[in-house]
Amino acid sequence: MSELKIEKIDVFKVDLPYRGGVYRLSGGREYRSFDATIVRITTQNGLEGWGESTPFGSTYIASHALGVRAGIAEIAPGLIGLDPRRVDRINDAMDQALVGHLHAKTALDVACWDLFGKSVGLPVCELLGGRTDVEMPVISSIYMGDPDDMRRRVAEHRQLGYIAHSVKIGDEPAVDAARIAASLADKRPGEFFIVDANGGMTVETALRMLRLLPAGLDFVLEAPCATWRECMSLRRRTDVPIIFDELATDDAAIAQLLGDDAAEGIGLKISKNGGLTRGRRHRDISVAAGYTVSVQETTGSDIAFAAIVHLGQTVPEKNLRCVLECRDIVAIKTADGDFAVRDGRVTAPAAPGLGITPRLEVLGEPVASYF
Ligand SMILES: [Mg+2]
Repeated sequence: MSELKIEKIDVFKVDLPYRGGVYRLSGGREYRSFDATIVRITTQNGLEGWGESTPFGSTYIASHALGVRAGIAEIAPGLIGLDPRRVDRINDAMDQALVGHLHAKTALDVACWDLFGKSVGLPVCELLGGRTDVEMPVISSIYMGDPDDMRRRVAEHRQLGYIAHSVKIGDEPAVDAARIAASLADKRPGEFFIVDANGGMTVETALRMLRLLPAGLDFVLEAPCATWRECMSLRRRTDVPIIFDELATDDAAIAQLLGDDAAEGIGLKISKNGGLTRGRRHRDISVAAGYTVSVQETTGSDIAFAAIVHLGQTVPEKNLRCVLECRDIVAIKTADGDFAVRDGRVTAPAAPGLGITPRLEVLGEPVASYF
């Protein structure tokens, strides 16, 4: 194996305005823009690898944009001179430099996979196990609002070809029940609905909400409550399929999900889980468990979406629920590539690595460099 060594790591900061004005989640959380960290890793022979980590603000999970860049400052010096193709060893070195902080490790990990692909002339999905021939459905993200308005926004996405919808709820039981009923009112055969409370319900409000729903609505309930105990308590009292997201963050949590028989699937968000190296492991555990997987990101731009698409492209069709079109959420384009969504579906490109070309004029000057 010819030599490949990390020579330099540059960090860029880009503000990504939310495309729709104000994004609302349970608990009164509001988001207007997202602070993206993008890294470029350059090797001794001039290859460049790119990765992105963009938290969903600072109030979604235990990750925040300043933490991404502070974490990279801790980790990056220890990666200089290492071979980026040894992705598990790169992660060992990152864990050696900093405990936890998976969101900070993500951009570096993804950039190493990009380099790995470019160094051997293969797209990342081939290195992650090989592409399926699945045309992956992208999922909408319908923020919490007035029920009729949510029904309208689902219809808009349906018009664009979306067959999967993530509907946000999580405050007053009667209003949440109305939101679900309205969002599913025009449901067509083949469409799939994830009702996502983002941990905003108590067991009590969740049970009341479920009892207020009309019979026969076809959906799965994602992240109903904020804690593991509450989710398990709710699970014992209802037959609604449960998906874990915010609580399924690391190896131990994924293993415990199986042990507790706590869910039917997970939202696999790449920066939440620490990158593609760990994401690959969570994919494999999920497939072994018979779970469904939505491959997603906390949010992000084109570079984050490329990582989603490559990992999603390796999940067997039976297990793949959807991929998140995070580019729909943000108003700025950070890179170009062959990632067109056609009739609500996307496939990974054939270009080496992630298959993206960053827009350097959008990224500006690095805010930090390590060498
Ligand atoms: Mg979710």
